[in-house]
Amino acid sequence: MNSSPTNLLSGKLLLQQELPFSEKEIQSFIHTGVLQEVPGIKEHIFGFVCIRCGNQKSHLFGAIPRDDEEIVYCRKCIEMGRVSTCEPLYRWTGAKLQMPQATEALKWKGKLTQFQQDAANQIETAMLNRARLLVWAVCGAGKTEMLFQGLAAAMGRGDRICLATPRADVVRELEPRFREAFPNITISALYGGSPDRDEGSPFVLSTTHQLLRYEKAFDVMIIDEVDAFPYHADQSLSYAAKRARKDQSSLIFLTATPRTKLKLQSNLNLIPTVFVPARYHGHPLPVPRFVPCYNLKKSLKKETLPSKITNWIAEKRNANRRFLLFASSIAAAEKIAKLTGMECVHASDPERVEKVERYRNQEMDALITTTILERGVTFPSIDVAVIEADHQVFDEAALVQIAGRAGRNAKDPYGDVVFFHQGKTNGMVGAKRMIEMMNDLAKRR
Ligand SMILES: [Zn+2]
Repeated sequence: MNSSPTNLLSGKLLLQQELPFSEKEIQSFIHTGVLQEVPGIKEHIFGFVCIRCGNQKSHLFGAIPRDDEEIVYCRKCIEMGRVSTCEPLYRWTGAKLQMPQATEALKWKGKLTQFQQDAANQIETAMLNRARLLVWAVCGAGKTEMLFQGLAAAMGRGDRICLATPRADVVRELEPRFREAFPNITISALYGGSPDRDEGSPFVLSTTHQLLRYEKAFDVMIIDEVDAFPYHADQSLSYAAKRARKDQSSLIFLTATPRTKLKLQSNLNLIPTVFVPARYHGHPLPVPRFVPCYNLKKSLKKETLPSKITNWIAEKRNANRRFLLFASSIAAAEKIAKLTGMECVHASDPERVEKVERYRNQEMDALITTTILERGVTFPSIDVAVIEADHQVFDEAALVQIAGRAGRNAKDPYGDVVFFHQGKTNGMVGAKRMIEMMNDLAKRR
């Protein structure tokens, strides 16, 4: 790859320490007008604004005294390096990055279902027209493959493409699949601590966090799992995703469970939407069963599990079925692990990655997990149960995603999904309704 300043800097907004050039080279770039210094923090009448992440909340700014004045810095995006009133950002204003026009970039030879093909056509059209599109596709619809056709066409035009997702594990999961489908395209996979560096790649896979380093870089922006934490809750990430796009660019949202705002936009036709209501294997989504356990919280307090749950576990074991048990918190997961003798995994577990790998490799038949495994992971043939499905962490989107872990394999498409609860919630009822609605939609077409 050509590591020219254009390739390294074009479409980015970086701190001095992130510029892979010496102080002398930087000064000469500025002098010749190909690099521009941009204030990192600006002051306005109500306070400060961080130019990198858009933060305007006064409690998210810090101050460091220096000489007679104070340096103000942004705490919101500090994990990407400090932006302050003394530490500006740098923007490349020299030659524009030219992408190669890659013909026949796609080497994938699989076949799409009719639903997938319809979506693939609409995705390609949206990319071509620099338009917006919401792809509302059920868990297990095969959405990655639906992107291939449009991506190949965009690469053929010399577009610069970014697929961003809130979660690093999704970037890691997608990277080998895109490399296999597009073996001759330079792909950079970016997340905190990733080995890749973007030197002007035509195709960037990135966490939404890493987009804080980009400005007007991409002709096509795809945001996968748009409803996932932390994207939907962190305004700086949508700010970054917006700035990373060129003024004339296509924006594609992918999700199985859009949040209320996006759903509303879709219902009001403010964003064109394509539904993919069926899984790639054509079988309906497993519909959750509600199993009331009115002594559930009491039992857990007394360090026992209700018999309905222990019976379910025994049944699965007798039938040689692999399963996931979802718990509402780390404490609950650990307690259930102690009571059942099974292993558990959660976000702050140092062995998190290894355990998931061992479960994936079938070295364990069961795993207890918090919501960290609710999405982005595919295990072929499993059943799932949610313990305390009425707990507030299990909102509608989380429950639809959890149910979507079951029945992913064409050879074993009917997974069992059980919500053990102590009183139905709107989230539970909404999740079941959403799954039934998608199954109906798939049947009718
Ligand atoms: Zn900031």
